[in-house]
Amino acid sequence: LVGTSLGAVLDGVHASVVLVEADVSSGLPNFSIVGLPDSAVTESKLRIRSAIKNAGFDFPTKRITVNLSPASMKKRGAGLDLAIAIAILRASGQIPQPEREPHAFCAELGLSGQLVPVTGLANMAFALSKSSVQHVVVASLQSHQCLPIPDIVWHAFPSLRELVSVLKGGDSLPIHHVTMSHRLERTDEGDFAEVIGLEDIKRALCIAAVGQHHMLLVGPPGCGKTMMAERFPSILPSLTPIQAFEIHALHQAAGLNAELSCTPPLRSPHHSVTVAGLVGGGMPPTPGEVTLSHHGVLLLDELLEYARPTLEALREPLTTGCVRLARAGKVYEMPAKFQLLGTLNPCPCGQRGYGECRCMDSAVKRYWMKLSGPLLDRVDMMLYISPRSKEDAKSPSVRDGQLRDSSSMRQAVTKARELLRHVVAQTSRDEVAHRAFPITSDAKRLLQRAATALPLSQRGVQAVLRVATSVSAFEGDSTIHSHHIEEAIALRSHRSMGAESLIDV
Ligand SMILES: [Zn+2]
Repeated sequence: LVGTSLGAVLDGVHASVVLVEADVSSGLPNFSIVGLPDSAVTESKLRIRSAIKNAGFDFPTKRITVNLSPASMKKRGAGLDLAIAIAILRASGQIPQPEREPHAFCAELGLSGQLVPVTGLANMAFALSKSSVQHVVVASLQSHQCLPIPDIVWHAFPSLRELVSVLKGGDSLPIHHVTMSHRLERTDEGDFAEVIGLEDIKRALCIAAVGQHHMLLVGPPGCGKTMMAERFPSILPSLTPIQAFEIHALHQAAGLNAELSCTPPLRSPHHSVTVAGLVGGGMPPTPGEVTLSHHGVLLLDELLEYARPTLEALREPLTTGCVRLARAGKVYEMPAKFQLLGTLNPCPCGQRGYGECRCMDSAVKRYWMKLSGPLLDRVDMMLYISPRSKEDAKSPSVRDGQLRDSSSMRQAVTKARELLRHVVAQTSRDEVAHRAFPITSDAKRLLQRAATALPLSQRGVQAVLRVATSVSAFEGDSTIHSHHIEEAIALRSHRSMGAESLIDV
């Protein structure tokens, strides 16, 4: 007799559906699992035997062969325990075999037959819904992790015994209902209400948020650049539920237990992070910081403290929005579309342009030289932050600006993004890199003059156009005027401190 069931395994950041077949035939008692199982799957034989017996069922003392397909894929972990146990119970006639399998069984087994949570449940659910498997059986202990993914119906059971008693009767499984409403909330840390004044900086941050421009925040130590960068996600529009689930799944694949939230993620790895830690690595590949900041923000604090090879590794994700790792004849692709924020001092001593700088010009130049390369090519905006003055904080007119807190900033950003999306949809130029609003002839002349006078490289001109588009969208205008170009050039202002020769060449 052959019994079958469905399960899923995590493979990189994605999961794959696995068909489990169990054959029980007469012969010397033996239990083998074939189809590229790893040691954890092989060990599951002992757990499955104990679980079936302790749940009060017969473990057949016959020749049992379990086949996992597709056979070409390495099966890792203990997540197939339950699916294998069900296939064996079906093969030995203890529960009926349905004609068409509507369920996937995603749980590990404890020795006494209790169901135990699996790693990467959200990833598995996404994979199952793509394969049109609607019903997913999980451990009750994991029911709080069930996401309201469209097309997925969840069933939660505490133990093999209770699951089998329902399957035996041929009844449909009771549904574990999950609802969206109380689950997706923002989990912002910090608020721009705590940043009094600095309206021009808040405006610049909003503009960066509108166009998702990669940005550097420059200023002396203690000016609050890190504090502002850390609050940046709080002004980004909320994620859609599917985006939030996707991020949740990516974090689960990395073994992190992130809270489900519609606030875009912020990751700020320490500067000692390795290349593998940043872009992902290992076998099976685990996601790196760039993947964990997908749909969100990657903050590199004190950018120049990071090793050169680490920064070089950002080239691929910054260009393609994903990371590709070749492992054992297979290419694992992991999404990595993030907005890069970097903070740095204006010079080694940190005071150039702000106070008394003690650095030699050549030292400052060397300092900025470390930044050249793939990173700088991608940075659209550079923001110089001054320490806030006491008068500034006291002034009521500054206090009551339009961008007083994160929520009002986020509203303005969301509105501008909608305008941007609307115009881009009309012109069908959806490539972020090339998206730009129509430009007036005055503005075009100004840009040409600036390109010669500054001078701006071709890449610099494109970046100014991108930023100018975000500026005009932020003002509710769908045409680029001269003053938008002026502001965009100012936001790319690398004219001081020795950065000019690097950015616009
Ligand atoms: Zn200095």
